[in-house]
Amino acid sequence: MNKKIVVLISVSFILMSFVIGYKEININNNKPQYVIVIHGGAGYISAKSVSKEKQKKYIAKLNEALMKGKEILEKGGKALDAVEETIKILENSPLFNAGKGAVFTNNGKNELDASIMDGQTHNAGAVAGVIDIKNPITAARAVMEKSPHVLLSGNGASVFAKNQGLEIVKPKYFYTKSKWKRLQKVLKKSGTEKFGTVGCVALDKHGNLAAGTSTGGMTNKKYGRIGDSPIIGAGTYADNNTCAVSCTGHGEFFIRYAIAHSISAIIEHKNLDVKSAAKYVFEKKLNPAKGAGGVIVVDKNGNIAIEFNTSGMFRAYYKSSGEKEILMFK
Ligand code: ASP
Repeated sequence: MNKKIVVLISVSFILMSFVIGYKEININNNKPQYVIVIHGGAGYISAKSVSKEKQKKYIAKLNEALMKGKEILEKGGKALDAVEETIKILENSPLFNAGKGAVFTNNGKNELDASIMDGQTHNAGAVAGVIDIKNPITAARAVMEKSPHVLLSGNGASVFAKNQGLEIVKPKYFYTKSKWKRLQKVLKKSGTEKFGTVGCVALDKHGNLAAGTSTGGMTNKKYGRIGDSPIIGAGTYADNNTCAVSCTGHGEFFIRYAIAHSISAIIEHKNLDVKSAAKYVFEKKLNPAKGAGGVIVVDKNGNIAIEFNTSGMFRAYYKSSGEKEILMFK
């Protein structure tokens, strides 16, 4: 009898350890080793307003950029490298409003902004209103790593980039027919238009977060207007203790409400999960103020949030578990 009880207890004990062990494996499996999320701008796009052919092009380019970042992270590379290299691919494409495809200012020029932030060190770098740096995101990273400053603008940023050996192009490199046509259309309405900014957030295998954003700003912008994209805390933010954020949309609102930093602060101080924190800034700040746009966020545990209040947002993510999605519309 006693022996039976001992055997029973032992069997239950072994079974229980299996269950606990399995649960633990499951919990660990739930935290991805690495994650990358990208965006190519939020705006009033719909399946009807973008031709099937164009949709294919956008998807292919987003996929190429996403896979570049994935490859870096898979090999154990830094989140910062994944963010920079991914954004460079989007900057080199005429499809988006960043780098090569930057939109035109009121006087027919291209003035580009970009920023990057390292969640591990809280170092950050940015450039604003640059006209001849091929890859503003690389210039932003150089400001972060090779200068004592955070934000350089205009001609000074160009001189710095040249001194760092970065690729300088003639301003006309940024001419694209489609963006020129956009300017002509917007000039008729005498408004501004924002769309197509690119951004990336990543968590690497070492547990480090990084975020970056790059843009041509708003079509028909005037007077050296700078948006949120090169403003740390507004368009870009990363902190290993909370999350990494990249924003897109009507920059003035993202600056006023310090949206990127707010999401991090909400996670830190309100103890909300990443999705609730992203929703919070829309419900409490952007929607009441009628500030249009979107955010991508990854937290320190690899959870992601993609929120926007426009009809569409080019967006994609990849998790080490193999989970992947590339989407354009609501
Ligand atoms: N946020 C950018 C700006 O205001 C524009 C955009 O994201 O489309 O300059």
